[in-house]
Order: sequence, then structure tokens, then C-alpha cells
Amino acid sequence: MTKKQWIEAFPLLNEIIDTKEILWKNPDYRAESHSSTLSKADIEDAAERLERFSSYIAKVFPETAESAGLIESPLITIPKMQKVMEDNYHIKFKNPLLLKCDSHLPISGSIKARGGIYEVLKHAEELAMEHGYISVTDDYSIFDNPKFKELFSNYRISVGSTGNLGLSIGIMSAQLGFQVSVHMSADAKQWKKDLLRSKGVHVVEYQSDFSNAVSEGRKQAEADPACHFIDDEDSKDLFLGYSVAAARLKKQLKSMNITIDREHPLFVYLPCGVGGGPGGITFGLHSEFGENVHCIFAEPTNAPSFLLGQMTGLQDKISVQDFGISNKTEADGLAVGRTSSFVGKEIGHLVKACYTIEDARLYSFLRDLSDTENILLEPSALAGFYGPIKLMKDTENLQVKIHNAYHLIWATGGNMVPPEVQDSYYQKGAVNK
Ligand SMILES: *Cc1c(COP(=O)(O)O)cnc(C)c1O
Repeated sequence: MTKKQWIEAFPLLNEIIDTKEILWKNPDYRAESHSSTLSKADIEDAAERLERFSSYIAKVFPETAESAGLIESPLITIPKMQKVMEDNYHIKFKNPLLLKCDSHLPISGSIKARGGIYEVLKHAEELAMEHGYISVTDDYSIFDNPKFKELFSNYRISVGSTGNLGLSIGIMSAQLGFQVSVHMSADAKQWKKDLLRSKGVHVVEYQSDFSNAVSEGRKQAEADPACHFIDDEDSKDLFLGYSVAAARLKKQLKSMNITIDREHPLFVYLPCGVGGGPGGITFGLHSEFGENVHCIFAEPTNAPSFLLGQMTGLQDKISVQDFGISNKTEADGLAVGRTSSFVGKEIGHLVKACYTIEDARLYSFLRDLSDTENILLEPSALAGFYGPIKLMKDTENLQVKIHNAYHLIWATGGNMVPPEVQDSYYQKGAVNK
């Protein structure tokens, strides 16, 4: 089909191409003709693997000792920010607004500390087992043993990234003793590259965008049998690493005396790049909460790749550039022009809606959150804040009553941003209109 024919088929494309902020409601939501190839057993397998590694993680990353080596983030309420959102946008939350602080995940300070670290650990476990170094009943703190580092030094791990995935994988792989290459897209921030190089990671820089960095990395890895390429566009392991968050979130909600049920559904707002992080979490949440959870994805107006893939059904067969959209955004973690078809097929039908947000609004939320709650996030991580506003302002009520709902915003990164960079972000946040 030509661009014109696509626009006729999907009139919302007009506004998307004009990079307007839009809300797209998924007509295929929970369509029974779709199903996932993965199951709850796969999520449990991933959770058990992370549990096996907990003694090692607690040992080499002392900041996780408090959580006994589990890499997990706080769930909090943000009453002052909630008030500011209510006042600025003329909305009202019935229940306390929730913030899931993956920005403060230990080790690498972003949502990528889930999937990225998980896939590296899984690969390390496979190699160690192959060489007869370990069995599942052992205490995994011996992964810190020089003998393991010696083994892993013969292997390479490689990944393409806009920044945060590279940080997670680089830090974890270097700690285990692997050689690591991170292929960074043009969007990647300088401080992320510097940090990785300081850990001995081989950083390869590209002038092109994420999809290109990934395919270059993939190509180079294929030529080297000792190299494991972590494929952000197509990795079941990354996806499952993210999915483990859901059961843990359920426990956190319970400890806050929050029950999610038919009358009190949970709406979750997830910033989306290639789709793996929000997709894995959506998969996990549906496995925990079933029909009582509704996941909504947020993308920059200049990089709505997941939305385009789902709306047209073309998944990774089209890019935002095909529609003349730039893929240029300050939200580096979301600067992805072409989505993952693996993720789209796996969970596209479990995403209730997608919306887009302008960079300027990301900064405005950034500043408000800093002023009200003293929480500093990176621009990508603010994309979820516009979700409840978009939904509440939508006149057709999305078929589900949302007035008793709990709204949870997934804050996906920010803890490792250097203070001077953080300060420049804050300065870009316009004082409220
Ligand atoms: C990567 C990233 C996301 C989105 O995850 P994807 O797997 O790319 O969809 C969101 N926020 C931040 C800060 C990220 O680094």
C-alpha cells in the first residue's frame, strides 16, 4: 500500500505524521484470535534463575544486600505530584497515584536492569553448566571465583543500544569477566559511553539510529562463535527478565493494602522504545492480574514505532521514517524507529492503548516531579505521566470504567544521570503554563 492508502485506512495517521499528541485505542484489545507463545511457567523459570543468582548479586553489588540480592525497585505514592497534575490538567484521581521507581533499580538505574542483567546471567549459567562448573543446587556466590572469570574471559557478549541496555549489560558482563562490546546509536548520551568505557567495555559508536546499531552488532557477532549477541529486537530472555517484575509488584501492592479486582482495576502506563521492557512487564502483569489490569504504552511523538506496528499490523515491516517521522527525540531510551515484531506478536493484543507525548511535556513533568517529590528522572522515564491525563480526558470512556481504578506510572530510568546533566534537564522544564 502507498502512504496515501495507509492514511485512508487509518485516519489517525494524519495526526501521527504531523507529530501531534494522540491516543490510539487498540481495536484488537484482548482479541481471542491472538495468543502468546510463552507461559506463566516461563516467567517462573526466570524468577527462579534470578533467585539462584541472588547470593552472587548480593556479594558483588552490596547495594542489593538489603533486598537479599534481588534487583527490585520501590513502589511509592506521590501525593504532591498528583495534586499538581490534578490542578494543571483539571483531572481527579480517586485513589493515590502510584509510581514504580525502576529509575532506582540497583546496579544500572533503569528498567534495563531487569531484562539486560537477566539475559547475561542466564548466558553465564549456561556456560558454567556446560563446563561442569556449577549445578542448580549450588550456592551461586562462587560465580565470583577467579576460575569463573577466567572461563568467561574467553567469551564475548555484544549488544546494540540507545544507552541504558548497554549500561546494564556492560556492567553485568564486565563484573562476571566477559569481554563486552556495546554498539551505541547516535542518540546515546556521552556520559553513558564514558561510564561504560571506564568499566573496560568496548563501545562502538554509530552516526545512525538504534535499528542500525543493532543490525551492525548482530552482523559482527555472527562472525564470532564465542560471542553471544543480546538482540533487543528479538530476545525471549530479555522479555522474560522484564516479566518477573509483575509478581513482585503484586506483593508490593498487597503490602500497601491495595487489592486489584474487578471494581478496582489497575491501569499501568509504560514508556515504550523497541517494546521489550514494557512488553515483558505487560505479559507478566496479565499473568498476575488477568482482566483486571490494563497496560497503556507511551512513545515520543517523533518515535511512535510500536504504535505504528500495531495499528497497521505491519510490526517491524515499517519504520516511523517510512512515514516521514524523524525518530529524533530527547527521550533517548525511546528513540526507536522500528519496533520488535517478536514483542508485538507476543503482547500487542494485551495493550489497551498507546499514546504519544512531546519532548517539551516530558521536561515539564520532569521539573514538576523534581519540585514536588524531589525525584529526578531521565526524560524517557516521564512519558508515563501523561497517560492517566490522556485517558481521563478521553470522551469515549475506553469501555472500562476507570473511576475506581488505581493508576500506576512506570518510571523507567534516571538514577545514574550525572548531576550536571540532570541539572540541564531540569532547566529545560518550562515553568508551568
Ligand atoms: C529502554 C527504555 C525504555 C523502553 O524499553 P524498550 O524495551 O526499549 O521498549 C523506557 N525507558 C527507559 C529509560 C529506557 O531506557
